[in-house]
Amino acid sequence: MQKNQLNIAVIGAGLTGLTTAYYLKKFGFKVQVFEKNNHAGGVIQTHRKNGFVFESGPNTGSMGQEEAAELFEDLADDCTLEYANKSAEARWIWLNGKWHEMEMGGVKAITTPLFTWHDKFRILGEPFRKPGTDPNETIAQMVRRRMGKSFLRNAIDPFLSGVYAGDPETLVTRFALPKLYWLEQDYGSFIGGSIKQKKARKKEPPRKANRQVFSVENGLDNLIKALVKNIGDENIKLDCKQLEIKNTGDQEFSVDGESFTHVISTVGSHALENLFPFLPKEKMQTINKMKYAKVTQVVLGFNNWKGIPIKAFGGLVPSAEKRDVLGILLPGSFLKNRAPENGALLSVFMGGIKKPEMFEYSDEKIKEIAEREVREMMGLDSFEPDLMEIFRYPHAIPQYSFESEEKVQAISDLETEFKGLTLAGNMRDGIGMADRMKQGRTIANQFAEDYK
Ligand SMILES: Cc1cc2nc3c(=O)[nH]c(=O)nc-3n(C[C@H](O)[C@H](O)[C@H](O)COP(=O)(O)OP(=O)(O)OC[C@H]3O[C@@H](n4cnc5c(N)ncnc54)[C@H](O)[C@@H]3O)c2cc1C
Repeated sequence: MQKNQLNIAVIGAGLTGLTTAYYLKKFGFKVQVFEKNNHAGGVIQTHRKNGFVFESGPNTGSMGQEEAAELFEDLADDCTLEYANKSAEARWIWLNGKWHEMEMGGVKAITTPLFTWHDKFRILGEPFRKPGTDPNETIAQMVRRRMGKSFLRNAIDPFLSGVYAGDPETLVTRFALPKLYWLEQDYGSFIGGSIKQKKARKKEPPRKANRQVFSVENGLDNLIKALVKNIGDENIKLDCKQLEIKNTGDQEFSVDGESFTHVISTVGSHALENLFPFLPKEKMQTINKMKYAKVTQVVLGFNNWKGIPIKAFGGLVPSAEKRDVLGILLPGSFLKNRAPENGALLSVFMGGIKKPEMFEYSDEKIKEIAEREVREMMGLDSFEPDLMEIFRYPHAIPQYSFESEEKVQAISDLETEFKGLTLAGNMRDGIGMADRMKQGRTIANQFAEDYK
């Protein structure tokens, strides 16, 4: 098949779908995006109200992939990448009724109450411990083996609440934190491996992926608008409420009455069965074993902040502390123009994989919890926010757990059986925004390679 004979449908206009379509179009392919909602962006949505600019989905990403940095370079005329200011370097962990700064280097790393003396000494032996042999080891098993229980309780558990709203006892390292897994496998140690990687990188050309915290000036929806502008409104069909895709022949699909040679799905696994009724049930059952964390995000704005000093990225809460929040993010402190001067913008996260029942709580109950937790944790005498918005996500974050290997195999089998079909999105290849940009770019690169 020649390049000009291809007609590609991308399902879903979230970050993955839009990045895929953007590069496909840039590489000269004919592409049409289909989206269920009446707007693009998926979970990325920015709101502007009462002098605050706030996100209802992701707030920030980590620039961990070259492809993400390159996408921002490619879109530089239409949106401006914003890196967090220095305040974001301060990260807090809640322990025994107060916040403690997370310090992994210097004197504070020795004096911190977050880790036991036993584990602080034990970490010195980390480079000498043998690498694991179980490819499906969970993050909790791996951290206990290499670092100790207090690191799991007060560093890794809250970190995973922040990233996955997940549980270290069920997330499998190879899929959920692949960079960490391969650090151990390739170098035998996290500490030794990080040092060796740093040294090796000094000899290579500078990398664009710098792991800094990023957003977009004046809100993440400006990235979405930039992608939409470059793809072209005419190539994005919104409001496709009842889409059902048919496999009408060898490498032939019908989407909304139009014929396509290729379909790239970027929707969540829970939406696949209705969308692709021709996919065999037993493979879908395997894919659908993957759970999603349900998350509630409460955004609070204060015109005049009277709580504790908030020059920080935010704080995370170990699940062993038994609080009702996963963490509190402070975007007004490290991003420009998000809150009035002397004001504060807080994003409070609740629920997650360990507390799914919270998703059902009424607005009143959520407000009560937000007030109780924020008053105590952020040192407020009175609670009179100038902005309070609640956002709920039934399928916020996919959990790369024990079924991951089987799921990836099932996806690969389906893609082999149905030529022209790609099953992508955040059910595989990483959940972060940078991972999503990488996946979209990689898919488009593969098309460019296959159809020169
Ligand atoms: C509350 C929350 C906080 C997060 N925080 C962070 C963070 O701090 N940092 C970070 O890097 N990542 C974060 N993430 C994760 C990150 O935002 C997502 O992984 C990423 O944005 C997902 O993009 P996507 O395009 O793969 O999926 P989505 O954004 O879910 O897009 C999928 C699209 O497909 C559409 N769709 C679904 N079904 C159909 C159908 N049948 N027909 C047509 N269209 C359909 C949907 O409407 C949607 O627009 C967060 C996610 C959530 C929910």
